Amino acid sequence: MTEEVHDIACTVCGCVCDDLRATVEAGRVTAMNSDCSLQQSWFARHNIAPPAEHALISGKPVQFDDAVKAAARILREAKHPLIYGLSRSSTPGQRAAVRLADTIGAVIDTTASTCHGNSIMALQTVGESTCSLGEVRNRCDLVIYWGANPAVSHPRHMERYSLEPKGQFVPEGRAGRKLIVFDIAETPTARMADDFVRIRPSSDFEVLWALRALVAGKPLDVAEVGDVPLDKLRQLADQMKACRSGVFFFGRGLSLGRNGHAGVEALLRLTTDLNAHTRFYARRMRIYGDVAGADSVLTWQTGYPFSVNLARGYPRYNPGEYSAEALLLRGEVDACLMVGSDGLHVLDPKARERLHEIPTIALDYPGAERIADADVQFTTAIYGLHRAGTAYRMDEVPIPLRAVVPSPLPSDDEVLDAILKAWRA
Ligand code: SF4
Repeated sequence: MTEEVHDIACTVCGCVCDDLRATVEAGRVTAMNSDCSLQQSWFARHNIAPPAEHALISGKPVQFDDAVKAAARILREAKHPLIYGLSRSSTPGQRAAVRLADTIGAVIDTTASTCHGNSIMALQTVGESTCSLGEVRNRCDLVIYWGANPAVSHPRHMERYSLEPKGQFVPEGRAGRKLIVFDIAETPTARMADDFVRIRPSSDFEVLWALRALVAGKPLDVAEVGDVPLDKLRQLADQMKACRSGVFFFGRGLSLGRNGHAGVEALLRLTTDLNAHTRFYARRMRIYGDVAGADSVLTWQTGYPFSVNLARGYPRYNPGEYSAEALLLRGEVDACLMVGSDGLHVLDPKARERLHEIPTIALDYPGAERIADADVQFTTAIYGLHRAGTAYRMDEVPIPLRAVVPSPLPSDDEVLDAILKAWRA
């Protein structure tokens, strides 16, 4: 029997598009109506028959219970365990991970610490003028991408939320909006812009601070800032003040690097300044599907969004000290449980090397690229394909995930709760 399933949410990137349709035949998805290149390649990789053996110890198939006991033993023997990843999971898996970390006294960290961790620290310092993607769609006639390339990283962002859709106060859609891109190189997104502003690498802070001065009407005694002529900056500041509603979407091009938090702080302060003249917002371009959900779950469970140390029985937050990469580089963890090891490629190579020296446990989806050669491995069901769950869109709007087809694989939360039960036994 063939069945059409509608309104499926995609968790591949932070857009969490929830308008996909699948054709299901004999309990398998045989087609997905997506024209998104990222979604298509993810689906081709993961829509495979579940492996006959979904629990391994040292690469050898074992019974699920034996793998659970081995994982519990690793965590029991560890003095400084780390739980890392979470962004490709879902609310139930993330809650189970926090539950486990809290009980065993682990550090828990998410991929945010290698991505928008700097942005989170900046907004904790100066706040943010923020909005939902629905507000952008309905209100914004000026869209600015800063250090972001959504044409590649979030292929449907402009189509669904920012540039093309017709909104309540932007009935003309694309014709009613201006697109400006600030970046250090001409990207595919920059080529779509009405105005591409190329800035010198590592000069974001200076350019943003100059824009703040110009928005405030202060004189600047320079000919250019970050390779952008002063007249051009003045024109951009005037354009920002004159729009009816504007939004900055900023990406890792702004937030990464040693001074990323300062660049993001400057952008957030500029957004606040602009609200004295018009309505303006700032939003992060979250990369991984449910990294915003990982932030949310950790925050509501521990009070902090990432890099949380629960070793003393209460949460301590200090990103430079308790981020997974920093702990691994300093050799301060003696076991690691990864909920999704495909995010490890962004860690410093020396931190990844350290993972080969300590006992590791990995939960991965079928077809996932396994970077870690983990001692204990579980293949888990995919939330949004095999299991229901919740993913948080990049604007922190929770989107329900549907179980489209059945799977014999256990979910992240089932594996993590089983490990916790065995740890307590
Ligand atoms: S833009 Fe992102 S969430 Fe939307 S379909 Fe493509 S990969 Fe999935």
